[in-house]
Amino acid sequence: MSSIRVTVWNEFQHEKSHEAVIKVYPNGIHTVIADGLKKHGFDSVGTATLDEPEHGLTEEVLANTDVLIWWGHMAHGKVQDEIVDRVHQRVLAGMGLVVLHSGHHSKIFRKLMGTSCSLRWREAGEHERFWVVDPAHPIAEGLGAYFELPEEEMYGELFDIPTPDALVLISWFPGGEVFRSGCCFHRGRGKVFYFRPGHETHPTYFDDNVRLVIANGVRWAATTNGPKFDYANGSAIHAKVPLEKLG
Ligand code: ZN
Repeated sequence: MSSIRVTVWNEFQHEKSHEAVIKVYPNGIHTVIADGLKKHGFDSVGTATLDEPEHGLTEEVLANTDVLIWWGHMAHGKVQDEIVDRVHQRVLAGMGLVVLHSGHHSKIFRKLMGTSCSLRWREAGEHERFWVVDPAHPIAEGLGAYFELPEEEMYGELFDIPTPDALVLISWFPGGEVFRSGCCFHRGRGKVFYFRPGHETHPTYFDDNVRLVIANGVRWAATTNGPKFDYANGSAIHAKVPLEKLG
């Protein structure tokens, strides 16, 4: 069991309006992601969606979240800037953030990256192969050299992000495209993991490897208990041993 407190945020719009999506995720993408985490031993998993007051991301919810997962697509513009700022502050203060698939264009991801986060895409239900390119990284734990999904939307380079602090996965698609599909970033005290797959018409979040990567990503991104610093005007910190004796 893990004591990491996770909140899965999903805009939860396609699943109310698009037949093809309702068939795959009748109760919403967030419930399937939450189920996957519970199977990996996370017992504190909440969910939040766009239509709830404050999008379900109240001060209290965020204060009690170690890692926030973010899925959004058609309603990025409907997320209030005030809530985006609130999430941003929590990330800088140490909350982990796992951004999935079309969340690449969410306000929060673009704000944290500082770039357009744009990419090439094609919705054709294509085969995707994920190559592990950092086998010692904790997010790669338990994976093989590669894994595959039979049907996904294609995302291709250039993905307009800052160079990731660690790159764990690269995807290949039959159209010849490649994509940095598992990217780690540090922002302030917080850690951000971007994981590519998860188009709403494919059953991607039921896949065992995808669930393993998300679980590993949550563990990697979770808040740590490192030292706290203040940013005040500082007076000298005198050595307890006279300096001339240190050498
Ligand atoms: Zn998509």
